[in-house]
Amino acid sequence: MQDVLNLLLELQIIDEDMGELDRSKVYLPEMIANINNEIIALETEIAENEQKLLDARKRQKEIEIDIETDKEELSKYQKQMKVIKTNKEYDALVAEIDSRKQRISDNEDEILKLMGIIDECTEKLSELKTKLDETRETTKTHLENLNAEMSTLESKINNKIKQRDNLVKNIDRRVLSMYERIRKGKGSMAVVPIRKRSCGGCYKQIPPQLIQEIRRGDKIYTCDSCGRILIWTNEEE
Ligand SMILES: [Zn+2]
Repeated sequence: MQDVLNLLLELQIIDEDMGELDRSKVYLPEMIANINNEIIALETEIAENEQKLLDARKRQKEIEIDIETDKEELSKYQKQMKVIKTNKEYDALVAEIDSRKQRISDNEDEILKLMGIIDECTEKLSELKTKLDETRETTKTHLENLNAEMSTLESKINNKIKQRDNLVKNIDRRVLSMYERIRKGKGSMAVVPIRKRSCGGCYKQIPPQLIQEIRRGDKIYTCDSCGRILIWTNEEE
């Protein structure tokens, strides 16, 4: 019977490992995605700022051309002022000159704003690029490890399945179904050691008489409180 208990313990270790591997199947892709998302978010922010910078520079060039044109027209109108003949002509010319001056002034204000945006974007881009490099550098090894772990996960699971199949061949069907029923019911350990004269699963005290019987290992004993299979592991006196 001691052999069966040892087999059950071995089975339980395999089942715990399989549970861990199954959980890895969920959390490894999540961790990989989190790291990748962090990098993608930075790349997106960089692309947005680069576009903003391009737009601002393009707009600046357009406005500079407009200012040049307005200045040329302004000087043309100012020359015409010298040869003006009527009040009507004068008023019309003054209106043109004023409107050009106003437009030049407005455009110069906009250029100042654009230069501010360009400086801001340039500074922001330099910060973001440094942060991206740092993030790539610090997560590189972690990401490689996670990917490596991910790529071996299926074969590890298959190995455990094979190990389990081989092991359960040697376990009595009734004992096996008892183990599986307890494990399913508890959602965890079905076989627990005795610790401090108590059940290692629910900590209920076990009478000394019963402990002696369990130590002999003649049959399978279960905890009358939680129903788990109790074993003696020699870790206690
Ligand atoms: Zn118990």
